[in-house]
Amino acid sequence: MEYEFVLGLEVHLQLNTKTKIFCWCKNDPFYAKEPNINVCPVCLGLPGALPVLNKEAVNKSQQMAAALNSEVQGKIIFERKNYFYPDLPKGYQITCPHYPIGKAGAVDLTYFYDDKSSEKNHIIRLREVHLEEDTAKSMHKNDKTYIDFNKSGVPLLEIVSEPDIRSVDDAVEFCKEIQRIARTLEVSEADMEKGNMRLEANVSVRVKGDTKLPDYRVELKNINSYGFMKKAVSYELRRQVLVLENGEKLHQETRGFNESTGETFVQRSKEEADDYRYFPEPDIPPFEFDLGETRNITTLLPELPKKMRADLQKDGLNTQYVNILLENSELRRKYKELISAGYSSSESAKCVINVSKYKGLSADKIINEEKSKSSSLLESDNDLSPIIDAVLKENPEAVEDVKKGNENAIKFLIGNVMRRTSGKADPRKTSKLIRKKLS
Ligand code: ADP
Ligand code: MG
Ligand code: ZN
Repeated sequence: MEYEFVLGLEVHLQLNTKTKIFCWCKNDPFYAKEPNINVCPVCLGLPGALPVLNKEAVNKSQQMAAALNSEVQGKIIFERKNYFYPDLPKGYQITCPHYPIGKAGAVDLTYFYDDKSSEKNHIIRLREVHLEEDTAKSMHKNDKTYIDFNKSGVPLLEIVSEPDIRSVDDAVEFCKEIQRIARTLEVSEADMEKGNMRLEANVSVRVKGDTKLPDYRVELKNINSYGFMKKAVSYELRRQVLVLENGEKLHQETRGFNESTGETFVQRSKEEADDYRYFPEPDIPPFEFDLGETRNITTLLPELPKKMRADLQKDGLNTQYVNILLENSELRRKYKELISAGYSSSESAKCVINVSKYKGLSADKIINEEKSKSSSLLESDNDLSPIIDAVLKENPEAVEDVKKGNENAIKFLIGNVMRRTSGKADPRKTSKLIRKKLS
């Protein structure tokens, strides 16, 4: 039998508003120097504290929804989603799933494929885009649990896809395109390492040709990198196909992924749907927008990745260069400057990409590779050591994670050293030194 993969994604983006969603506390969870400094009665969830909706959060959500071809709604109603969790002491999360920011929508991934025939449909439909508050963060150390409320009340945009995704490649590309759109609009850093972009995947399989949705789905939570997603989702597919081939049934459940064994494991089985007892938030009135207002949002959007991509492709650049330029507005500006100064598109692209010290996901990689070839590298232990010491001191959490064997944490530390040295540190050397210092 041939099987087909049915996957729906939920992408969470922390919006980069100046203040939190329902109070005036600074929205700065990643860079805050200490835990629990950006807090007040509202975001601590003290009884009787009154939330006030942040207009910037709504505006940025509406822009993002419009850019995702979602229908920006004329009415938003916030509700309480009731559940108990230590990082949510008030016992409910304020969210708007039933009267969301945007309904429907689509992310078109056709550009990712050479074969553009209509048979291969890579348009991923969206179900909705809604806005909610982020929870606090719990940390477990020395048999104790600590809670940091700097993240509590950060505006979180949730983008929910239909289960239209049919391959792991499309899943990754779907998230990358959302990331590019968010960065283009400058509504979120959308950086998974900093936790301001987080993913949940819902996975099921069916016999190829079936049109009905499988009557179960497996939820994979806390996905914090594309590598993680690829491994976890691929494993889950193989596992589910084997179960079906054995003539057994699959169940609705939440599974985690163990990076060291490369396997998923049951965290929670879900016999029945969760009942969150939603009811309208009594302290926030419903919001209404007129049609003119919501239409205007779309017309005022800046140029989006789709259009930029088409233009860069017309310039004759290869996909790798196009993607680097798409991910980094600073590089794109430089590129355009060089073009208008009379350089050819390939000269301009090579130039800005190879000499750039700006950050940007895959740009960093390319740049580091370029740099490791050049002789201006900071290679000696004497040059690197004090910089690494400073970075380790400023990031005790990442240090703990490295000690626990988390490879992402070491990448994060190396990234920090790179930024401080404008990319001049030798990444291999840096990695070695960090490991040596921590062992
Ligand atoms: P809930 O209301 O419990 O959050 P939804 O039906 O809204 O569940 O779906 C949540 C996510 O799961 C969506 O992204 C959706 O695309 C995805 N999903 C729903 N059914 C399936 C399925 N059978 N297989 C894979 N993903 C699914
Ligand atoms: Mg959901
Ligand atoms: Zn607050």
